[in-house]
Amino acid sequence: RKENFNITCDDLKDSVKRPIPNPTCKFEDAFQCYPEVMENIKRAGFQKPTPIQSQAWPIILQGIDLIGVAQTGTGKTLSYLMPGFIHLDSQPVEKRNGPGMLVLTPTRELALQVEAECSKYSYKGLRSVCVYGGGNRNGQIQDVSKGVDIIIATPGRLNDLQMNNFVNLRSVTYLVLDEADKMLDMGFEPQIMKILLDVRPDRQTIMTSATWPYAVRRLAQSYLKEPMIVYVGTLDL
Ligand code: ADP
Ligand code: MG
Repeated sequence: RKENFNITCDDLKDSVKRPIPNPTCKFEDAFQCYPEVMENIKRAGFQKPTPIQSQAWPIILQGIDLIGVAQTGTGKTLSYLMPGFIHLDSQPVEKRNGPGMLVLTPTRELALQVEAECSKYSYKGLRSVCVYGGGNRNGQIQDVSKGVDIIIATPGRLNDLQMNNFVNLRSVTYLVLDEADKMLDMGFEPQIMKILLDVRPDRQTIMTSATWPYAVRRLAQSYLKEPMIVYVGTLDL
């Protein structure tokens, strides 16, 4: 069944409306111009990009919105974090009035996990902060007010801080909806909607999901612009 989205990797055979960037077979293919990224990858001891990374990196680095559908454990976090760091490099802090990158996640555990990856692989002193329900609200407000480049948040708490003017999202140009299916299952759509009212419409948006049901496709249609879809395994339509 064809969606409104122009391309999945399967569409290669019949209707190619846009050229699909070549996949990254080696880390150097994507990041040779970014020695600090290469160093972080080497330090982690990774041998090669995972399938989702090898497809996602060149697409995201071209500024294209991307939906990545793949099972847990396939390396989706670094598939959006690495290009995110590079994106922030072109949006230096003096050009921004707040964080440039926002990652929304369904749970506190995932937010903390993404933040840990962020601290491990990010470079040039990019500052990341984690904002989630159940955590120390005042501490989070202080962290955010110190000037932050990356916010990793669960939708409820971020919406709370946003409504009370503790966080300015108007400089966010790189938005990630991580585990979108789970965020919808948990009923976070109203909060996501309110958060995104403040995020620039000309942002780049990345969405990940382990499944591809109607609700997730609808969310993608609302919030992503002419996205490419990369999926690993089968799309369960
Ligand atoms: P997902 O978000 O798809 O569930 P994660 O991004 O959490 O998966 O990655 C799962 C694990 O794989 C993490 O421990 C991560 O550090 C590791 N990993 C990521 N990229 C690679 C790679 N290229 N090679 C080997 N391991 C990787
Ligand atoms: Mg993940």
